[in-house]
Amino acid sequence: MSPILPGATIGLLGGGQLGRMTALFARGMGYDVVVLDPDPEPPAGALASHCITARFDDVAAAARLAQMADVVTLEIERIAPAALAAAGEFAHVRPGAKVLEIIGDRARQKEWLVYQGAPVGAYATVSTVAECRDAVARFGVSYIKAATGGYDGRGQVRVTTPDECDDAWAALRATRCVVEQAVDLAAEISVMVARRPAGETAVYAPAINAHEAGQLAWSGIPAPIDPGLAQRATELAADLADALGVVGLLAVEMFVAADGRLLVNELAPRPHNSFHHTIEACVTSQFEQLVRAVCDLPLGDTSIVRPAAIANILGDAWHGVAPPDFAAALAVPGTRLHLYGKREARPARKMGHLAAVAETTDEAIRRVMDALGRLGVGDPTAGGRAV
Ligand code: ADP
Ligand code: MG
Repeated sequence: MSPILPGATIGLLGGGQLGRMTALFARGMGYDVVVLDPDPEPPAGALASHCITARFDDVAAAARLAQMADVVTLEIERIAPAALAAAGEFAHVRPGAKVLEIIGDRARQKEWLVYQGAPVGAYATVSTVAECRDAVARFGVSYIKAATGGYDGRGQVRVTTPDECDDAWAALRATRCVVEQAVDLAAEISVMVARRPAGETAVYAPAINAHEAGQLAWSGIPAPIDPGLAQRATELAADLADALGVVGLLAVEMFVAADGRLLVNELAPRPHNSFHHTIEACVTSQFEQLVRAVCDLPLGDTSIVRPAAIANILGDAWHGVAPPDFAAALAVPGTRLHLYGKREARPARKMGHLAAVAETTDEAIRRVMDALGRLGVGDPTAGGRAV
């Protein structure tokens, strides 16, 4: 198979921040970029030579994108199978339809993980409230997650007793859900794997992640964890990428349980929020690595040059008495700012992130949280606000 060389065009299904940063690195390597997104002014739009405004189930639009591109990749799992197939008529689609089919549905993803022998926590797939109550009666404190459509902690509800299931079920408005027993967490980590068409892989060191309200708040790399655990996690992730036959990236979110078990939480076949620090930390960022993988170029070195951390900047930061104080944040040594060019700062919306490098991961996390604190605190009860 011959590589897709600079000068060629990469089509992006999805033009959010993940697409924007991918486009930034693709442009840096001399590729042209075209984007499809439902938002007429998506974050990646500024870096694309063409931007198609269409839904992710618009078959004709996906075909148009692919006609302009040599390879099509994605930054979001919510692409309709028919749209992916239509794109595949005109360009390589990496990752392919089979990967999305498995990952795009939580229940199917879990079944696949179990079939592969991957360790997962206790769970049940349910399609009625009665089944849901049964599962919660067995599991105790549980997370009820809609099979499709959830992200950043949306599309899921934590319940403590079966009696809470009726309200949770109504709120989720889903016909199929996965009920997961709540895991007593010692830590959350993630591993990123890149894979080329012929199967060559490159794996990043595990990242350590902290979530607030189900959404990633900060992440650091390398995760300061036992080396044996780190090795088990990277091997597990590489094996899953091989079994899936993914071309591009595979992020594997994992739970480290208080009892020592390493469990797979979920998979994402795209760049991941918990690897944004690879821009500062690693020889090759996750975004450049995605470009190299889907263009069938030799994968880049994943070594860590310097520990780094990131903290997400949410729309809340624009709702304080003063605008976010970026100058104060950037006064913290080793800190960098990434903003995604979103026009409306809705609470909980990811608007950008801060990154920091340091001698150790813990120090990088301390620095980035210091910088985040200097932005000023917002009022999460306020509505949307223009940036
Ligand atoms: P999303 O697709 O929104 O990222 P996740 O399934 O990863 O959904 O859940 C988001 C976060 O919620 C997790 O990173 C974790 O902090 C918490 N969480 C989800 N499921 C469980 C569980 N079974 N046990 C403990 N914490 C959980
Ligand atoms: Mg997750």
